[in-house]
Amino acid sequence: MVKLGIVGGGQLASMLCQAAKKISVQTTVFADDKNSPAQHFADNFIYANYEAEKSLTDFANQVDFITYEFENISFETLNRLSKLCEVNPNPRINQIVQNRLSEKQFINKLGLKTVDYKFVQSLEDLNKGSALLPGILKTTRMGYDGKGQFVINSIPDIKNININFQNEYILEKKIKLKKEISIVITRYKSNQTSIYEPIENTHNNQILSESIIPSSVSEAIKATATTAAQKLTEELEYIGTMCVEFFIDNQDNLYINEIAPRVHNSGHLTINTHNVSQFENHVRAVCDLEFIPLKKIHNAKMINILGSEILKYKNKKLDANEFFFDYLKKEAKPNRKMGHLTIITD
Ligand code: ADP
Ligand code: MG
Repeated sequence: MVKLGIVGGGQLASMLCQAAKKISVQTTVFADDKNSPAQHFADNFIYANYEAEKSLTDFANQVDFITYEFENISFETLNRLSKLCEVNPNPRINQIVQNRLSEKQFINKLGLKTVDYKFVQSLEDLNKGSALLPGILKTTRMGYDGKGQFVINSIPDIKNININFQNEYILEKKIKLKKEISIVITRYKSNQTSIYEPIENTHNNQILSESIIPSSVSEAIKATATTAAQKLTEELEYIGTMCVEFFIDNQDNLYINEIAPRVHNSGHLTINTHNVSQFENHVRAVCDLEFIPLKKIHNAKMINILGSEILKYKNKKLDANEFFFDYLKKEAKPNRKMGHLTIITD
């Protein structure tokens, strides 16, 4: 039996474990939170600090392949693991993508478009960024679900926000978004790729709210986005499932927002819409298992369930076309992703 180690114990790890079980891959989750939801879905659970050398070694020695569920894991941790066991996606890729500056530089170097931005290390740098206003100041590291972001409409706004220059930032032009789409793609060692059709996403307070297929964007935009995602995975020699988030403005310009080197929230609907979900594809690719050609079976809409909203769903009678996923998180903090509902729409 193939044994897969997963670093991180949140809902993405849980869904990876469920997919692994389906294809008889044994899972060991390594996480630094003793309440990690994924422990309920994994075959084995190791609760330890991401810097604990002995625990990392034990973990690496008991699995055949290692992957991770989120990008905010230090390069040192992943690199240490990769000396003992094969880690995919390659830690070098995570290093590029976990920093918004190196991520954007990498994307631009390939001739792909991002919104205009500027590296900001000081108040002086920020004050020189007026051409990018209204803009969004984002920490280069550790941001997710809009955390570590400040909207700056004009220079006087800068005085009213408390910016910690111990961190580095990028100031990005705030564009008028017409639509957001994402492309979820899995690349195998054989170079074969599974590309899901573009998914249309709506955000609320910078947090993903709904994802829908089919998306309502033009065929031309779909094709450009798909080609860009394919090019990124090839250039990175990426193994596993990755997601590329795109912005589309009112003039139909397509920009790459960010790359997630992992399974992605917008791809959760693939569990119910395709013969192989983004999770199963990831497990197959990182464990070097058989590639299965992708087939779409349904259209669907996925709704994220945040905070105490989850209570409404726990006892809800579901229709035959509704699929509810409870992440089994202990505490329903406001805006925390607690579960999702996928509705088959055809
Ligand atoms: P995170 O890493 O937290 O997902 P993102 O950079 O993807 O952060 O931003 C979250 C959401 O905020 C985006 O999906 C989009 O809706 C909005 N947003 C981010 N940057 C911009 C921008 N430059 N212009 C307009 N909207 C933006
Ligand atoms: Mg994002």
